[in-house]
Order: sequence, then structure tokens, then C-alpha cells
Amino acid sequence: MNVILHETESLCPVCLRRIPARYERRDGRAYFTKACPEHGGFSTLFWRDADMYESWLRQGVHAPAKDRGRPPDEAGCPFSCGLCDAHRSGTCTAVIELTYRCDLDCRVCFADANSRRFEPGPAQLERMYAAALASNRFCSIQLSGGEPTMREDLPDIIRLGKRMGAVHLQLNTNGLRLAAEPGYAAQLKAAGLDLVYLQFDGLDDAVYRRLRGRDLLELKLKAIARCEAAGLGVLLVPVVVPGVNLDSLGEIVRFGKAHIPFVKGVHFQPMSCFGRFPGGAPADEERCGLCDVIHALCEQCPGELRLEHFVPRKQFDPHCDFSSTYFLDAGGRLAALSERSQNDGDTERTDFVEKTNKYTQKRWRYQPGGQADTALGRFALRTLTHSFCISGMGFQDVWNLDLGRLRGCCVHVVTADCRLVPFCAFHLTDERGGRLYEN
Ligand SMILES: [Zn+2]
Repeated sequence: MNVILHETESLCPVCLRRIPARYERRDGRAYFTKACPEHGGFSTLFWRDADMYESWLRQGVHAPAKDRGRPPDEAGCPFSCGLCDAHRSGTCTAVIELTYRCDLDCRVCFADANSRRFEPGPAQLERMYAAALASNRFCSIQLSGGEPTMREDLPDIIRLGKRMGAVHLQLNTNGLRLAAEPGYAAQLKAAGLDLVYLQFDGLDDAVYRRLRGRDLLELKLKAIARCEAAGLGVLLVPVVVPGVNLDSLGEIVRFGKAHIPFVKGVHFQPMSCFGRFPGGAPADEERCGLCDVIHALCEQCPGELRLEHFVPRKQFDPHCDFSSTYFLDAGGRLAALSERSQNDGDTERTDFVEKTNKYTQKRWRYQPGGQADTALGRFALRTLTHSFCISGMGFQDVWNLDLGRLRGCCVHVVTADCRLVPFCAFHLTDERGGRLYEN
């Protein structure tokens, strides 16, 4: 029997028209189901664990649209983003795409790199930075692409951002240039870079051959060593695909842990079907939800990582991301600093965006050690210098796009004309690869 868990709206994967959609419980799993009057019904596995889906749903704070003294006009969503009136969240991360060139040609690529041409010059970049900072003065800014290190003027671009007041600048990279070019990591650090957000899918070259088309492990290790030598913090960012690396997430955590304090954590991203991915509507067995990542982590790091350490985001939609925070204790174990509240319907109304930015600025960068006089002071310092974050983000694609979730999104791409568009709307592609947004 199907039980309706939650109703929302989505788009038809064929014609992209807006249609009603809902989450349903079937055989203990949560499915996302919708029907287009012209193109029929679509159903895709959302979370394998419907109990966890429901418990996280209850824990979210579904904030109302910002009060503007009139009802929000949701009619244009997601076609007139920029952000529109109906959007419920400010910007916690602004993504600035520097190029679509890339020195890899991966089978999986949200940006479908090398298929398009767009490269903003200094004057345009200044406008794009200004747009991000006008949206939120304290937002994290992610320089992305394509592969941003393809640009020779990357250090200048970092300096420009810092000069304009960017508090946290992170570089989304495959790490090839960091590995190949001695002194490059130090050059980026000197320019003001705060974090390397490193594509890192595992510790087995078979994984890289399947996802990236070639052996890359040695280069990844070298890139990390170069960042360590430069005192530059690294966040490991694996794409997670069942049958490829879902069974080796624990290994990635153990590797990261061995590289504390330079590796600041692991940010898992289950593969979504947008941009470039191995074709067509995904089979349920190819789907990976955040619940699968969390269960895999707890199974693969028994005793150290526990279900209750993993906290859904408290606002808007709890199914977009999770985080857990640890520090490496004196005995060499990850000790949890986060714990999920057992109370449903948490009514906490702290500013989610501000909280997220403070967390990033504190935890997602290398913190050099200091001196503390007391045992308590030394403990507090260690929870900072040796902190380790395990988080995950579930992106949406045309099969599971939930417009309610989208309106709460705080990860925004800065477009060429300086509008802010939620990441999952910006990269959305229909079943034949047609884009909703283009730079
Ligand atoms: Zn349709």
C-alpha cells in the first residue's frame, strides 16, 4: 500500500512543465512520484529508508517565505530565478564558475565541462563577486567550473575576491595542477585561498577509472601532500555511486582522519542525474540517498561513527544535507561534537545561513596550533585545530526535483548577468540533456 508522506511540485522530465508531485512510502522506502498530463507518470527512489525520511521530515523547520506583506508569487518558480520573490533562503554558498574548460573528461560531471564556452574577465568577475557579497556579505564563495586551475589568472581572481571582502574562498578542483606544479598550492594560499575543495572519490584506481576515465589516485595523494606542505586546508569531496564506491566510504574517512589537521573533513555527494552522467532515467538501484551514505558510514566505521551524530539541516528542507562534527582525541579516535536532537518538530529559529557561514569559517580551513595554559584551554584548542567534519549534500535532478526544497536552497550560482540561481535549478537538465539555465 502506498502512503503519501509529503506533497509538493516538480517538473516533467520531458517538457519541463510544472506538475504536482509527492513522496510516497512503498515497501519501507520513500519514492518521489509525479505525472505529466502529456507525458505520463514518473517515479524514482528517493530514500531507501522511509523511517529515516519521515523522522528527518519531522525534524526540519519549514520556514515560511520571507514576510513581504503579501503572499509570495510562486508562479515563475523555477523559471524566473534570480532569486525570485518566492525564495525562502539567503545565500550561504555562492558558486562562481570561472571556466568550462577541464583537463579531465569525466563520465560524471554536473557542469558537463568542455561542452560549453564561458570565461568571465576581471571586470565581469568583479561584478559577480559584488553580486554574491551583496546577497550575503559573509557567504562562502566557491570558485568552480569546469576546472578553475585551467585559468592562468586564478591567483589574481583569488586576490580580487579577498580584496572585495570575501570571508571564505574555496576552490573546487580535481587537484591535477596542484599535484603537477610545485609551489602552486603555496601560490594559491598566498593569494588568500581558504580551502581546497578536492574531488576525491576513493583510494582505489578502479573507482577513478569508472568515474573519471583514468587512474588518478597518485595525483590526488600528491595534491594533498602539496596542500599540507603549504598549510592549506583540504576538504575531500567524493561523488558517491552505488556499485562503485558506496562500500568504501569508511576507507575515505580513515584516510582523511590520518591527514588531520590539514584534511578538514569529507563532504559526500551522491550522484545526481544532471549535466553529464551515464544516460537516461536512473534505475532505483543506481540511486543513492543521504540515508544510504549515513548507513554506509556507520557500518564501515563501527563504534566510531553513529547514527545519532548525523544532523539534518534544521531549516527549509532537512533532506538536502547533513553534517556531523568530530575532533581527533588524544587516543586517535574521532570524538563526536554533534548529536541529533531526539525531539521532533524542533522549533529552533536561529538564522540558518549565518550559522552555516560561521561553521564553514571555523571548521573548513586549516587552523595553525596555538598555546593554551590550562588543560581545558588545550582541549578547546584541539577541538578546533583537529576538528573533522563529515557532511553530505543531496542534489536534485529532473526526476526528483522538489520545488519546495528548491525554494529553500542556500547554494546559489552567480550567473554571467549577476543573478543568483539555486545550484540545482542552474544545472537542471531535462531527459535529453536540455538545460533550464545557460550562462
Ligand atoms: Zn510533460
